[in-house]
Amino acid sequence: MSIVVKSDQEIATMRQAGRIVATILETLKLQVRPGMKTEELDVIAASELARLGARPSFKGYRGFPATLCVSVNDEIVHGIPGKRVLYEGDIVSLDFGAIFAGFHGDAALTVGVGSISPEAKQLIETTEGALKAGIAAARPGTRLGDISATIQHYAESRGYSVVREYTGHGIGREMHEEPQIPNFGLAGQGPLLKKGMTFALEPMVNIGDWHTRVGDNHWVVFTSDGSLSAHFEHTIAVTDAAPEILTAL
Ligand code: MG
Repeated sequence: MSIVVKSDQEIATMRQAGRIVATILETLKLQVRPGMKTEELDVIAASELARLGARPSFKGYRGFPATLCVSVNDEIVHGIPGKRVLYEGDIVSLDFGAIFAGFHGDAALTVGVGSISPEAKQLIETTEGALKAGIAAARPGTRLGDISATIQHYAESRGYSVVREYTGHGIGREMHEEPQIPNFGLAGQGPLLKKGMTFALEPMVNIGDWHTRVGDNHWVVFTSDGSLSAHFEHTIAVTDAAPEILTAL
């Protein structure tokens, strides 16, 4: 396994790509409302991306047909935006990647449509908390497994499960670089982290169990028990001190 270590200059470019992703995700989050079709979010993502001079990471990737992944309720990831209408009480995961000056940024968040149940709110907060805890574990001298174990413990100790078949990943000139970063694992195992490594950490957390199934369109991934799922992701860089979130505003 070889993990690409980036120079300061490369990370500066990734910061630009990351800002674009963060800016557009924030715009999309504010647009989510009952009655809209999920494809409307994709249209906004595509036009904002063009306006900011970047290209989509996802569109065309292994044939994925859209700029944005929109996954609703029991859909975990890789939902294709379309005619589906969002209703009050739904939760929507938006996953978005952009390429700028040769480097990718990748981030995701889950947002409620109008007012949502306390259970859904708790799930969203827990998933975001798991991501934050995982990010905090990404320091030089610790191991990749420490990130995985931290995310797993955060979610499971609160009564949730983490999806196992889909993982975070290295990121840079390629959207998916080595290593894969599972959201479960053993502390103290795996490669040592070094300054300049850049990762997309992305816990997917379910209210029910962790098993998944792929939908008829061969893209969208559901929880197999139909329970709600949330997804948060940031692209980060390991530094000498606290990790830097590259997909922050
Ligand atoms: Mg990703």
